[in-house]
Amino acid sequence: MTQTTFTDLGLSEPLLRALEARKFEIPTPIQADTIPALLANKDVLGIAQTGSGKTAAFSLPILQHLAAQQVRPAPFAARALILAPTRELALQIDETVRYLSVNLKLRTVVIIGGASRFKQVEAMRRGADIVIGTPGRVCDLMQTRELQIGGVNRFVLDEADRMLDLGFIKDIRRIVAALPPQRQSCLFSATMPVEVASLANSLLRDPIRVEIARTEEDAPKIEQFVHHLPQSGKQSLLLSMLQDEALSRVIVFTRTKHGANKVAGVLENAGIQVNAIHGNKSQPQREKALREFRSGRARVLVATDIAARGIDVTGISHVINFDLPVEAESYVHRIGRTARAGAAGIAISFCDSSERGVLRQIERSMNYTITVVGEAPGPMTQQPKRNAAPQQQRRRYSDRNQRGGMRSAA
Ligand code: AMP
Repeated sequence: MTQTTFTDLGLSEPLLRALEARKFEIPTPIQADTIPALLANKDVLGIAQTGSGKTAAFSLPILQHLAAQQVRPAPFAARALILAPTRELALQIDETVRYLSVNLKLRTVVIIGGASRFKQVEAMRRGADIVIGTPGRVCDLMQTRELQIGGVNRFVLDEADRMLDLGFIKDIRRIVAALPPQRQSCLFSATMPVEVASLANSLLRDPIRVEIARTEEDAPKIEQFVHHLPQSGKQSLLLSMLQDEALSRVIVFTRTKHGANKVAGVLENAGIQVNAIHGNKSQPQREKALREFRSGRARVLVATDIAARGIDVTGISHVINFDLPVEAESYVHRIGRTARAGAAGIAISFCDSSERGVLRQIERSMNYTITVVGEAPGPMTQQPKRNAAPQQQRRRYSDRNQRGGMRSAA
């Protein structure tokens, strides 16, 4: 059987050249299914995680459509609108759109909170072929008519489940109400709870459903471990783990902003290059933190859940849950930061006695038992499920890396 290529999907020559320059040779499964449907003007309901290649899947047909129309956007008007739940994700989508449209003359404007509103309005003065934004700031500019979406005929709602988690439903409804009925819409979501299904129902017309069933082969290869220990032991365990150079690019998750600052402070004092990223950081601070993490200048990024959503940094060797998340679903999003685009990765969770309940929920929701590598203290002591003492385990993390299982830093 021959493999589908981007040419087979019906993409135009300038886009094929951009893909080639980026060394995207083979469409990912979500791309192979979504691109023809969108090029045929169908609405799409995509169930896919970050890491599946969904950004290019929805961007390429939009670019092809806009370039073929050869019309200029009116001042303050957008021709296509892509909504993302977080600023970081919006910026990442923008980056993808920019390199995919390198051979086309299209104007992209990013409209996100935490960045200069003035500059965004100035950029909209010339109109935009594509606006990529977060719901709050998009609504804000719509209200003053500095963003006009009445002529948008390509609309994308990305990470719809997260949008709803973050309480954006009202903003989304306002935005959708201002879109023309004659449009193509597509909605992507990692999960399909009933609220998302109902939103999709109201948004999409006779959509093609694209769902990538995870096979053994394309499921992220993430090894998962848990240490049972008291809260007071977490800092020193983290420091001792980070002595191992195999932990080359590490995201540490904390539950609170304060916790993130505290952990980052401890690591900094120990001479580790680290940044924290959370809701109290300004947009320039977040961008700097991501830049340094991406380039390898900072080895560790300490993050809260919301700040980390959508972070697409390749080569993350380890995800450490300093605190377990409140919701089981966030665990899957967190560990998905590693093992991107087919690479392997390791997730290590620290679990104190108050977090046992959520650990059980996580395991139940994944239908998977996480390997215990540290003794459970106190009356709830469990036998380690796989017999590996912490020291042995440390070696295992390194060995794994030496086997070449991890992707090198990009
Ligand atoms: P996304 O799911 O859109 O966040 O994409 C995940 C990662 O896969 C990004 O780093 C993309 O640059 C990369 N990617 C997307 N499509 C392809 C492809 N067809 N071939 C190789 N890499 C890809």
